[in-house]
Amino acid sequence: MRLADCSYFKTGGTVEHLLQPTNIAELAQARIDIAKDSKPFFFLGRGTNSLIWDDHFPGFVISFNAMDFINKLSATRYEVGAGVSNTEFAEFCFRNSLEGASWMNYLPGEIGATTRMNARCYGGEISEIVQKVYAVTVQGEIKSFASQSVFRGYKDTLFMDEDLCIGSVEVELKSSTDPIKIREHMDFCRNDREKKHQFLHPSCGCVFKNDYTIGIPSGFLLDKAGAKKLYVGSAKINPYHANFIFNTGSASSQDIFDLSVLMRELVFKSFGVWLEYEMEILGNIPEKVKTYIKEQRESLIDVELLASLRREWQNP
Ligand SMILES: Cc1cc2nc3c(=O)[nH]c(=O)nc-3n(C[C@H](O)[C@H](O)[C@H](O)COP(=O)(O)OP(=O)(O)OC[C@H]3O[C@@H](n4cnc5c(N)ncnc54)[C@H](O)[C@@H]3O)c2cc1C
Repeated sequence: MRLADCSYFKTGGTVEHLLQPTNIAELAQARIDIAKDSKPFFFLGRGTNSLIWDDHFPGFVISFNAMDFINKLSATRYEVGAGVSNTEFAEFCFRNSLEGASWMNYLPGEIGATTRMNARCYGGEISEIVQKVYAVTVQGEIKSFASQSVFRGYKDTLFMDEDLCIGSVEVELKSSTDPIKIREHMDFCRNDREKKHQFLHPSCGCVFKNDYTIGIPSGFLLDKAGAKKLYVGSAKINPYHANFIFNTGSASSQDIFDLSVLMRELVFKSFGVWLEYEMEILGNIPEKVKTYIKEQRESLIDVELLASLRREWQNP
């Protein structure tokens, strides 16, 4: 099985076993089987925030795409399978006059991974609607987690530290008397992304997180540092957004990663800011890549330079 076919970046090597459970009981059984085999594993949603390494992965990948159920618990409360796409869920809420998910329209990916990443955009964040998460442990035990124990802040959740996988989430929405308003916001989200050319080529969205202590988006820092000129083979920077890498043709994951290194080093050299990866790197990852992703460097921030950039960002 070629993982490039399951990844949004269209890169990634082959995998020995791809498991596609359709419900939580099958997911739990998959985890029990994997534990018996003691081979490596990783989880894959739609691959829209991830870079899957080029080498063969000699273990298991659990894909959640087939867990695409939505169960009604009450008029405003639903259990949503990890594999339901964000856009499908926004459409479902619109059809049922439910408020709270319009911002998810055209946010690539599916709700399990969106919960793990605590994804946010256009005034919404998944933590605002998820009340409970049903997850499966390495031993195949199904556990439920209240949202207070899951969401720790900006793009940070409990699931980033643990080998737990999310099977479904319980969401609470609001009844709406104005579905036209919901549709207008959904259209706005879609049009804005299209206007910003986000879907021109395969990508993973933003490669680096924003650092809110700096107060300037990482994309702006990258742009000001001149990152748009960088490329490695067919891995190029989105000309409209310097924090996006595009696979404009036949880039490998190595090319994409090498370009991300150039971006990170350029911002450090230019402004002394050490960016943190948002892009998840999955698969058979070389040790030196793992070390580099986690590397911490002391900031060498030029306070005056950043203050002037902040002013430029605030008053374009
Ligand atoms: C064009 C574009 C625009 C984007 N814009 C935004 C944006 O505005 N805001 C934003 O926050 N993000 C954005 N993203 C990133 C992406 O859309 C989100 O992070 C999305 O939630 C990822 O979903 P996915 O299913 O593709 O995750 P994947 O990339 O498949 O997985 C992400 C991580 O979650 C893990 N994972 C997957 N499923 C599970 C599970 N069920 N349980 C536990 N772990 C799991 C994976 O192992 C991986 O570590 C954008 C991406 C693209 C391509």
